[in-house]
Amino acid sequence: MMVIKNHYPGSLINQLPPVRGKYDIEAPIAQFTWFRTGGPAEVLFRPADATDLKEFLINKPHNIPITTIGVGSNLLVRDGGVPGVVIRLGRPFSTIRTKGTEIHAGAMSLDYNVAKAARAESIAGFEFLAGIPGTIGGALRMNAGAYGREFRDIVSKVMALTPLGQLKCLSTEDWAPRYRGCGIPSDWIFTGCIMDGVWGNETEISRAMELVQSARTDSQPIRSRTGGSTYKNPNGQKAWELIDKAGCRGLRLGKAQVSEKHCNFLINLGGASTADIEGLGEEVRRRVREVTGIELEWELERIGKYSGVEHE
Ligand SMILES: Cc1cc2nc3c(=O)[nH]c(=O)nc-3n(C[C@H](O)[C@H](O)[C@H](O)COP(=O)(O)OP(=O)(O)OC[C@H]3O[C@@H](n4cnc5c(N)ncnc54)[C@H](O)[C@@H]3O)c2cc1C
Repeated sequence: MMVIKNHYPGSLINQLPPVRGKYDIEAPIAQFTWFRTGGPAEVLFRPADATDLKEFLINKPHNIPITTIGVGSNLLVRDGGVPGVVIRLGRPFSTIRTKGTEIHAGAMSLDYNVAKAARAESIAGFEFLAGIPGTIGGALRMNAGAYGREFRDIVSKVMALTPLGQLKCLSTEDWAPRYRGCGIPSDWIFTGCIMDGVWGNETEISRAMELVQSARTDSQPIRSRTGGSTYKNPNGQKAWELIDKAGCRGLRLGKAQVSEKHCNFLINLGGASTADIEGLGEEVRRRVREVTGIELEWELERIGKYSGVEHE
């Protein structure tokens, strides 16, 4: 029998402590993702500032799941929504300060704005950030990188809150970055980091940033509803080459498609569900496995529950 379930029958909101920020119940979060798909957050919490966030974590019941999102450029939110509290940081977490060649950035600062702030002070080493459309928090989670550079090459200290509200200042060893991931548990919240550059020349930095951006426009569907690279590159191989070899360029499922322009990108043609996108992604993995024997690993972060249609 097919049963349609309510998203969230409980009343989580009544268990949450008073805050100065904002709670929204059954809040749509698709608009916070590049794909523009997926179900609501059971509760969306937008903290007023760092103290509000810390007090929320200390005072909330400890068993409530916590998920923090940035600007959703690497995120697939499943159609059944995200149980627990989804946290989206705001303006107080978007500060960018320079101190010599160091940059101190809040977790909600856009990578591009960090690159621009570095350029304004003639600090080199941040040019690759100009092509990554996420936030510092998302970049710390993913150890984001491009053109041979990664966040682990520039980060010296990472600030994070544990789910119990303890503020930690982590060394790079504690942060434990690896290829498109890190060693920090998924319910910890990055609040900012310190990064190191070197003195450079503003004109050369500008030129390097423009090169990064034009390379992107030429090779990636950056005007589409997408999530960037869908899969990690397997050891010594390029995911897009394997996908092409398996004949998946342009493959469609519902309104989801493997990009013709860059076949490691999935796109929402308009009106796709997350089930379409994830289903297409799994079909690509199956075909690549069949043709090449290689198991592609998802790079996109997938959160939440499958849709409310369940078979009993
Ligand atoms: C067109 C396009 C091009 C891209 N190019 C690149 C590229 O060249 N290199 C690259 O590495 N990536 C690339 N990406 C992917 C994406 O931009 C990066 O992974 C980025 O770092 C994600 O940041 P975000 O703020 O969008 O995070 P989200 O997508 O919102 O979240 C990603 C993950 O980070 C976690 N997270 C976010 N903020 C926090 C926080 N404050 N504390 C704890 N966890 C947090 C989320 O829970 C989730 O697990 C691209 C994406 C697009 C759409």
